Amino acid sequence: MNKKMTASRVVATHEDTIIDIVKKQHTYFKSSKTRSYQSRIESLNRLKSALVKYQDKLNQALKQDLGKPEFEAYLTETGFTLHEITVTKKKLKRWMRPKRVPTSLLAQPGRSQICYSPLGVNLIISPYNYPINLTFSPLIAAIAAGNTAVLKTSEMTPACSSVIHELISEHFPPEHIAHIEGEVRETTILLQQKFDHIFFTGSPRVGSIIMSAAAKQLTPVTLELGGKSPCIVHEDANLDIAAKRIVNGKFLNAGQTCVAPDYLLVHKNIKEALLAKLKERIVEVYGENPIHSPDYGRIINQAHFERITGLIDPEKVVVGGQSNPDELYIAPTVTHDVNLTDKVMSEEIFGPVLPVLEYTSLHEVHETIDQLPHWPLACYLYTEDAGIQNELIDTIQFGGACINNCVFHLANHHLPFGGVGQSGMGSYHGLHGFECFSHKKAVLRSTTLFDIPLAYPPYGNKIKFLKKIMR
Ligand code: NAD
Repeated sequence: MNKKMTASRVVATHEDTIIDIVKKQHTYFKSSKTRSYQSRIESLNRLKSALVKYQDKLNQALKQDLGKPEFEAYLTETGFTLHEITVTKKKLKRWMRPKRVPTSLLAQPGRSQICYSPLGVNLIISPYNYPINLTFSPLIAAIAAGNTAVLKTSEMTPACSSVIHELISEHFPPEHIAHIEGEVRETTILLQQKFDHIFFTGSPRVGSIIMSAAAKQLTPVTLELGGKSPCIVHEDANLDIAAKRIVNGKFLNAGQTCVAPDYLLVHKNIKEALLAKLKERIVEVYGENPIHSPDYGRIINQAHFERITGLIDPEKVVVGGQSNPDELYIAPTVTHDVNLTDKVMSEEIFGPVLPVLEYTSLHEVHETIDQLPHWPLACYLYTEDAGIQNELIDTIQFGGACINNCVFHLANHHLPFGGVGQSGMGSYHGLHGFECFSHKKAVLRSTTLFDIPLAYPPYGNKIKFLKKIMR
């Protein structure tokens, strides 16, 4: 299929429609209809049935927008989302329960609780690379926490946006959950409205635009951003396993994964051996000519195709390097002898190009990571040495990590998923998602049966006692 021929545009949404939907969501939220456990479960069930009903359409749209194989579509998009609903439904009652905490002496007599309250009206903005997962996973958390939500998907995935629009409009009233079709214009209009929370997934560049717009109305933000995630392969690593897991993590969705290993830092002594194994593994998985593989995706559009091919230095290619603009195909590519000054190291690659840098001491690993502008979203380390594992976990700043694996930390809903510094703020998945869309109300319940007058004037010589309990 010529992918360029299938490209279409998203439908525009009128400004008045957007303003009206946000207003109605505020009224609906204030009606408290979203708050009860029963209504949250009912909405989650509705979303689940919708996803099941639309699964084939979503798969087709993912194929059209990203050339996504059906297995990957289920593993990373629809199946992932369905599983998130299952987990959320199972745990929701417990998550919603107020948490009893101790009451300090000064606050006695009383009992203290943390009560989870929905934030209100949320704006959820998603990127192009996992349009189903990154729209619905935050939505599940928003519903679970008792909120309303306006969804804005990427203009780069028109097929997915259109199916999401149909699915949401058919299953939810817009005052509860609405999807806005459109481009940057529509997002800009949305950002001028009053929201109680903005959940944004995308690039650090646009993240900064979102945060500036949110700051004008003091709207809290959760930012799920990107960056250059290092993958360190130490000299004692199990190279067969490393090659398998690196190839899987890097070339999934043709490298368009926020937590894909961006570049490899490989110990000099095992560099040649690892390169040989990577090459072998790529052929094993995608065949001699991956353009014919049914399991390999395509680049989202012409602009990204040109950007990514422009990062490949033909002199440094050891595997792949081929591309086909009509198909928006770029072969799984590995380059070596890469330096920090090479173009490929100047930005997040977000495509199927894996540069390899070598090191001789762990000090160089730190130096390399520190010289790159962003704290990474993810960090991967292949070594059997527990001392090195712990040292690097302690001393490198990153959002999340895998030891002897890539990418799969995000598949564990018990772990918070998010970045640090310029790779993001806030986290979600499972309980962390519920907390992300909830406000933790601090509640002290004091008794009226008796009173301790310690903190009231006249103070007299009460300070002596105060000094005993406050030190
Ligand atoms: P992007 O930042 O270009 O777009 C994200 C969203 O912002 C889209 O919905 C888009 O319509 C909107 N947008 C674009 N320009 C805008 C503007 N000027 N004003 C307002 N809204 C605007 O990101 P992308 O190219 O779709 O996705 C790739 C990036 O997202 C990478 O940096 C990747 O690392 C990151 N990402 C992060 C995660 C995560 O979970 N941390 C997941 C996926 C992708």
